[in-house]
Amino acid sequence: MGRTAVAPAIANDIMKKITYLSTNRELPSGFREKLSFREALFMGQAPDQGLFMPSDIPGMSPKEIISLRGRPYAEVALAVLGKFLSGDIAEAELQAMTADAYDYEIPIERIDFFTYLLRLDRGPTASFKDFAARFMALAMKAMKVPRRKITVLVATSGDTGSAVGEAFRNLSGIRVYILYPEREVTPVQKKQLDSIGRNVQAIAVEGKFDDCQRLVKEAFSDPKLLPLHLTSANSINIGRILPQIVYYFYAYANVAEDLKPLVFSIPSGNFGNSLGCELARRMGLPIRKIIVAVNENDEFPYFLNSGEYNKVNPARACLSNAMNVGHPSNLARYFDLYGGTLDKNGVVHRAPDLAAMRKNLYSVSISDKETTETMVRLYQEHSFIVEPHGAVGLAACRHYFESHHRETAICLETAHPYKFASLISDTLGIALPPPKSMKKLNSRRGKADRLKKNYPALRKYLLERL
Ligand SMILES: *Cc1c(COP(=O)(O)O)cnc(C)c1O
Repeated sequence: MGRTAVAPAIANDIMKKITYLSTNRELPSGFREKLSFREALFMGQAPDQGLFMPSDIPGMSPKEIISLRGRPYAEVALAVLGKFLSGDIAEAELQAMTADAYDYEIPIERIDFFTYLLRLDRGPTASFKDFAARFMALAMKAMKVPRRKITVLVATSGDTGSAVGEAFRNLSGIRVYILYPEREVTPVQKKQLDSIGRNVQAIAVEGKFDDCQRLVKEAFSDPKLLPLHLTSANSINIGRILPQIVYYFYAYANVAEDLKPLVFSIPSGNFGNSLGCELARRMGLPIRKIIVAVNENDEFPYFLNSGEYNKVNPARACLSNAMNVGHPSNLARYFDLYGGTLDKNGVVHRAPDLAAMRKNLYSVSISDKETTETMVRLYQEHSFIVEPHGAVGLAACRHYFESHHRETAICLETAHPYKFASLISDTLGIALPPPKSMKKLNSRRGKADRLKKNYPALRKYLLERL
């Protein structure tokens, strides 16, 4: 019996409606149904704990790619996302959604002859997570059952919660609760989370991030909470992956000449961002190599070299803290695209095509020492200011150039340097002014509710607010 191939090739011109399948579908206990985008969006994760993957990957022709040059980001988003979603969302609605989601600047800066920096740090919460969170929030609003009130529950260790909360702010019919560990977020993150306001309420949990995740999980399996119509907005939702394809097309169209292949270098933690690049490549974007840049959590470069997968447990704490991940959740999706199966515990059920992976992907682990050295070098040699996540991507690109033919590379900056103002003051000796989005923070008010880390307390809290 042949294995059901997900996205074997570029789909032909006849518009097929894309369905969504679990990465665990071939395991004995696997979930084998094909769901619509809407179903996958609201379900978040497949019932077998697998992640949803599109059944087909639509293509963009060279002519279509060239035509994106110079167009506003919202139009590029409409062109790319329309390929996936035209069977699910009406064109006019999708157009309104992309215009609404993408109204901030997306600078592409040239560092030297070969290297560009794509800054994805100008959204409302100053991290690249704004790109996906905003679109997913609007998709949920557009696709939910009309007049039904739904409740979004998220556990966060920092950046995700504020991006999601900000994205859902003011969307009618949707109530949002963000659980965060009381003592594990920075003062700026706490301020960002507590003061979103309107339909978004932060809950400071007397516990750790793991406690927050456990509480959210229990809530999802509690039949008493059915009247709340709970939905998750966590990072493995397919609704957060698709928008992350768009900026690769946008950057490529504005940098590349004559459809020449480019290199992208992506600071990576759970690999959702780089997966967007892999999907862009499969849609037809000319990409020579995807550099999956990681910090000292080196499970993936080790795997690419040796073929042996060992998660790093517990994850190592590095300066690029949003990338402190010892078992990237979206690696299961990479395995799937390359013909393998990996479960959520990190067990390999079927090995992927390692040779094909090595052809398309390059990965290297960057130490904290090299991260700060890169920040200093960029500032001294080029007057560029980057924060630790962006520095990991730039350092990885430099490693790649040492062993490969040099060609144009676009490195991603995933957070605004101001989020690391004290580190930057220590390493570069400069004081950074806050970006527009963070200037307003000081005048914002709002208080988190507090909860103990036991589930009955959360259930009581939610039911009282029904
Ligand atoms: C979340 C995050 C990352 C990691 O992105 P993944 O999609 O999980 O690989 C990198 N940088 C910043 C600033 C982030 O917030």
